[in-house]
Amino acid sequence: MSTSLLGPAEIRALAERAGVRPTKTLGQNFVLDAGTVRKIVRQADVGPGERVVEVGPGLGSLTLGLLEADADVVAVEIDPVLARLLPGTVAEHVPGLTAAQADDVDGSPVVVLRDADGRDRLTVVLRDALEVRELPGKPPVALVANLPYNVSVPVLLTFLERFDSLERALVMVQAEVADRLAAPPGSRTYGVPSAKAAWYTHARRTATVGRSVFWPVPNVDSALVRLDRREPPSTTAAREEVFAVVDAAFAQRRKMLRPALASLAGSADAAQAALVAAGVDPQARGERLDIEAFARIAEHLASPAG
Ligand code: SAM
Repeated sequence: MSTSLLGPAEIRALAERAGVRPTKTLGQNFVLDAGTVRKIVRQADVGPGERVVEVGPGLGSLTLGLLEADADVVAVEIDPVLARLLPGTVAEHVPGLTAAQADDVDGSPVVVLRDADGRDRLTVVLRDALEVRELPGKPPVALVANLPYNVSVPVLLTFLERFDSLERALVMVQAEVADRLAAPPGSRTYGVPSAKAAWYTHARRTATVGRSVFWPVPNVDSALVRLDRREPPSTTAAREEVFAVVDAAFAQRRKMLRPALASLAGSADAAQAALVAAGVDPQARGERLDIEAFARIAEHLASPAG
């Protein structure tokens, strides 16, 4: 297998030929550096024959890195110009692939490149990742992506929720978002993304990535986060109920839990009762609670004792 990665000159030439002008609204900062691509793939522990979903393949830097590791990639891209460009770029860099029949899945156009053994090496879905409810082919075991900045947390949480085949994720996000995702309770950056990511996974920040590896160069540094699937907390409350408690607890960060949860509970007294029943100090703040504690509160809000 002899996949070659994209170099900086090739990426710029590719973009120029196709008339691609990176837009900020879609978080289009493309990785120019093969070393960064290989680091992402290595940290994702991607193995031969594994099916990986990539959100936002862009010009294909990371896609080729994943294919080099012999993974099969399903790539979800919102930008039609980039989605149409990708199969050609991949076919040039990975020998022996041919276009298979393209079907629609869930209303989205899909293009497949297959190898001589009948493996779907690349599947491109043209769609907003937030709207993807099903993916074509075998279920993916990993999400590996350089996520668009403006929707990185919603995309990550949505995919963990919708695709329970995902055992792990390795994502590149804004450094500050990486800190939030990996923050433990009680730390300065602990908040809604930390608590919600902890429902699905154990998250840890694994590397910092300087802004100079991107084109165009963004205003912020990035970081890699590795997330490994865990069992969600054992609770009778529904995931949505637990997340509603998390949202209310952090809506006004400085508020104590009793007033913060009053409107969700129906009254401050009802909030107090649920907190006490859950073994949580009503005068504490949300930033101190782990996801298990939020789940206990949701349980007692859903079915108040006595
Ligand atoms: N993976 C490429 C790389 O590393 O060079 C590009 C990463 S770039 C940060 C983000 C990519 O996500 C862009 O290709 C952009 O068009 C795409 N994108 C933005 N919003 C999206 C969405 N809601 N759904 C799917 N793709 C999206």
